[in-house]
Amino acid sequence: MAWLNDHGVKPFIFDTTVLYSGGRRLGTDALATAERHGFTEEYLECPIVIADGLDGRDVIDLPAGYPHFKTVQVASVLDSTQGFVIFSHFKGHLASGFGGAVKNISMGFASRAQKQRMHADVHPVLNRKKCTRCGICAEICPTGAARIVGEEYPTYDLDLCIGCAQCIAQCPELALKILWGSDVQVFQEKLVETAAAIWHRIEAKTVLINALIKISAECDCLPGKMEIIAPDVGFLGGYHPLSIDAESVNLVGRTTIDSAHPYIDWQRQFDYAREIGFSDTIR
Ligand code: SF4
Ligand code: SF4
Repeated sequence: MAWLNDHGVKPFIFDTTVLYSGGRRLGTDALATAERHGFTEEYLECPIVIADGLDGRDVIDLPAGYPHFKTVQVASVLDSTQGFVIFSHFKGHLASGFGGAVKNISMGFASRAQKQRMHADVHPVLNRKKCTRCGICAEICPTGAARIVGEEYPTYDLDLCIGCAQCIAQCPELALKILWGSDVQVFQEKLVETAAAIWHRIEAKTVLINALIKISAECDCLPGKMEIIAPDVGFLGGYHPLSIDAESVNLVGRTTIDSAHPYIDWQRQFDYAREIGFSDTIR
């Protein structure tokens, strides 16, 4: 960091807010969680930024034009920053077989609403016991599908609803059910589409590092001690998320990932990237 500062660069480390409750749903909680784990500004020698804002609303929409997503919604830091180093922990994942640079770019930049769209087909399901009738869902709904009249509970017109997930993402009480039930193939396709739309915007100003250490069977967001499925390999650098992930798979071993997640066709990430032309951007 000192070297970067000496060369006139103003580095910072960023994360985005997550869908689920706990220590990272709100930006303030995410910063406190980071500090509890030792990721302080003093230790990192640079600021830590919650890139979609402390309330998760500092977002922009990017054109995508893919079968699942015509647009994708991401943290505004994507456009306001001059360069990125995408640092991804390579590990297993319960819905995509493995998670590497593609998954980190898609979930890491995505707004809460985009995270919901990737995880499942969306429609609001209200839990009245949690709802305070604050009206935020009706205020932010882009189509008027979410409505609240007087002191009544909100209603959601599914004929008008476009499944954008803004209401689920912004409800301060988590009164709208978070849906996790997407098919694993569709989930991977949505990851790839989101990463591709982001990559088109940042490829000229981005380098990638995959950390092939502590390679666990499951995603880092799951609680508890993780089963380690492969010995440490080290760190891998690259200039395209598909090529760095492909090389990471080779180094860790395809059979290692198959053994950890025998029912997931994780190759779908690469195949679908070819189908939508994402692989064409490898130079
Ligand atoms: S944002 Fe949440 S708490 Fe507020 S009215 Fe909508 S569902 Fe209820
Ligand atoms: S998912 Fe989007 S369109 Fe549907 S009710 Fe919620 S905010 Fe409105």
